Amino acid sequence: MKYELPKLPYAYDALEPFIDARTMEIHHTKHHQAYVNNLNAALEKHPEIADKPLEELLADIDGVPEDIRTAVRNHGGGHVNHSFFWTIMSPEAVAASKANPNAEPAGEVGKAITDTFGAFAEFKAAFEKAATGVFGSGWAWLVIGTDGKLAVASTANQDSPLSKKQKPVLCLDVWEHAYYLKHNADRKGYIGDWWNVVDWSKVEEKYKEAK
Ligand code: MN
Repeated sequence: MKYELPKLPYAYDALEPFIDARTMEIHHTKHHQAYVNNLNAALEKHPEIADKPLEELLADIDGVPEDIRTAVRNHGGGHVNHSFFWTIMSPEAVAASKANPNAEPAGEVGKAITDTFGAFAEFKAAFEKAATGVFGSGWAWLVIGTDGKLAVASTANQDSPLSKKQKPVLCLDVWEHAYYLKHNADRKGYIGDWWNVVDWSKVEEKYKEAK
């Protein structure tokens, strides 16, 4: 098997009380694992593209053979999106937000957010609007767009911003499987809790990589 489920860089209960352990475990071992398995099954049918980096396949999704294009889009997207998502959250962020719930990100990404959106609160409002506005399943993103500027975006299902030539900096999974056990139908409550687990030092790394 080419792709493997990445290990989480923290325990399933590490993001408590904001994201519950049971949700994290199912999300990682069932949902993410299924994307990996289905992606591998699709690529087995086309060994000639199996060695290409997944990011490249997603960036040129129309170049993927038609019979596996939807599978690569959905399951390849699912794999890269979740792999990204796990790394921008951390128990250190939970501890930091408990100590100072109103802290704003510093560093280059903090400055770029303020420069682009006017204030961190403005960015937060725009991001929350995108996240609550996803109809059905999808993701909210902070990306670097094709113009080189930060922007808030959303994608449906497991679509990746890479397919729109955007580079991800931050993302939030708003599929019901990401929050339903704890927050039930309250997606807004989930989003509000999620800010407390965002590790801005990791987002800073992603921002620098994307630039
Ligand atoms: Mn998910």
